Amino acid sequence: MTSQTSLMQSAAFNWINGEPAPTQEHLECRNPATGRLITPLARGQASDVDAAVRAAQAAGPAWGARSFEERADILDRIADGIEANLDVLAAIESQDQGKPVSLAKRIDIPRAVANFRFFAGAVRHQELPSHRMADALNFTTRSPVGVCGLITPWNLPLYLLTWKLAPALAMGNTVVAKPSELSPLSAAALAVICKQAGLPDGVFNLVHGLGPEAGQAIVGHPDIKLISFTGGTATGVHVAGTAAPMFKKLSLELGGKNATLVFADADLDKAVDGAVRAAFTNQGEICLCGSRVLVERSIYPEFERRFVEQVKGLKMGDPADPNTDVGALNSLPHRDKVAGYVDLAREEGAQILCGGEVPELGPGLEGGAFYAPTVLAGLSTSSRCATEEIFGPVVTLHPFETEEEAVEAANGTRYGLSASLWTTDLNRAHRVSAQLQVGMVWVNTWLKRDLRTPFGGTKDSGVGREGGRWSLEFYSESKNICIQL
Ligand code: NAD
Repeated sequence: MTSQTSLMQSAAFNWINGEPAPTQEHLECRNPATGRLITPLARGQASDVDAAVRAAQAAGPAWGARSFEERADILDRIADGIEANLDVLAAIESQDQGKPVSLAKRIDIPRAVANFRFFAGAVRHQELPSHRMADALNFTTRSPVGVCGLITPWNLPLYLLTWKLAPALAMGNTVVAKPSELSPLSAAALAVICKQAGLPDGVFNLVHGLGPEAGQAIVGHPDIKLISFTGGTATGVHVAGTAAPMFKKLSLELGGKNATLVFADADLDKAVDGAVRAAFTNQGEICLCGSRVLVERSIYPEFERRFVEQVKGLKMGDPADPNTDVGALNSLPHRDKVAGYVDLAREEGAQILCGGEVPELGPGLEGGAFYAPTVLAGLSTSSRCATEEIFGPVVTLHPFETEEEAVEAANGTRYGLSASLWTTDLNRAHRVSAQLQVGMVWVNTWLKRDLRTPFGGTKDSGVGREGGRWSLEFYSESKNICIQL
């Protein structure tokens, strides 16, 4: 196990060719629950990205020549290293991002372990296609793409970085990654863990810093052949605009405004529970959060009563307290954006059923970016609060009369990431799932993930799918070899 302080302080440097690399300038990394400075953060520039790309290119041939089994063994050792540091990494993630430490321990860090173990297994067991003709045999190989640029957001820092890094490494690529400047600490810790696990120098490089500086330099670097970007839709437009004319392989996982649809035949206890979890997990800062709840009118009053009661029971407070359900938002500017949407809802005549304020949480947390879990009712399904991504602990409730109306409202945003649907009618589950314009539908559950399945969105929620064989394909070049018999 490595000390928490030394892992956190490693973010003051980039990580290039297996060692810390200093930068001339620094940003600050603050705990959003207290406002306190944690560590200076390296502010990488285009020259740092270039150095990282050169290290990645130098390491590429040897890493790409290793067998899938050899690479999988190293991925398993990285997973072991993350697992051995679970408590430390959960504390780092919580202090850096604002999420409850209990959530980081239960979800974020175990999922990072699972990402490495899953893709180690996936490449060990992958089957490559062959197509026999009467007089020829086609077989398809997968070779590394080259240097991959991985850019990740602040909400699930280690979870999302490892979701990209594990398959990229498994397929023999080398990597230059840029975590969000708002929650970079677990990525810095991961670089140290990868080295301890025996990952060769130069295979995984990390450049910290701002999107328009380090991020833009990665997206525009001519020797980076693949970009996997997770973040906001507006940034995605910019990333696509730079990368597409350079013919880079591109995966864009962008924003969401996901509907939870509750039909009168649903198991109400489970639906209320699921809808609250979908709305407020990680303070509502998950792209998959169900931030618009559409409820069949006949059960609406009872649903609303129970939903609000359960939300009022969520314990908001110090993310380090193991009993906290809702922690701090990621930054004060983000908290102000969330509060701005609630002000807008007030102007639009919404009823605020609970929340709608900055809570007072006592000594030590006065400077924190907290916002009370908020339930809004009485807004149109086409209002701004019901269609724009707020990405915080704010949910709108809407009654509907018919299944058609529910589907139309669910599809009535620019986004198309996911939906969850609560019903005991199997035919309805099939019918409605088929009509929802999203990449993922959960029926009578939310955020149940099988890593073999495709993950991604439609419309303005992104382009492409990652997960299982979709990741193996994305992080490799397929080559068909046709042999005349
Ligand atoms: P963001 O777009 O502001 O930043 C994401 C990353 O891109 C950061 O590392 C940032 O530094 C970098 N970046 C910013 N400008 C850039 C540029 N010009 N070139 C290259 N990189 C640049 O997003 P955020 O605020 O960090 O994250 C929240 C958003 O991410 C939400 O919209 C959320 O829905 C989305 N998200 C989507 C998924 C998904 O799987 N679809 C998952 C998590 C989060």
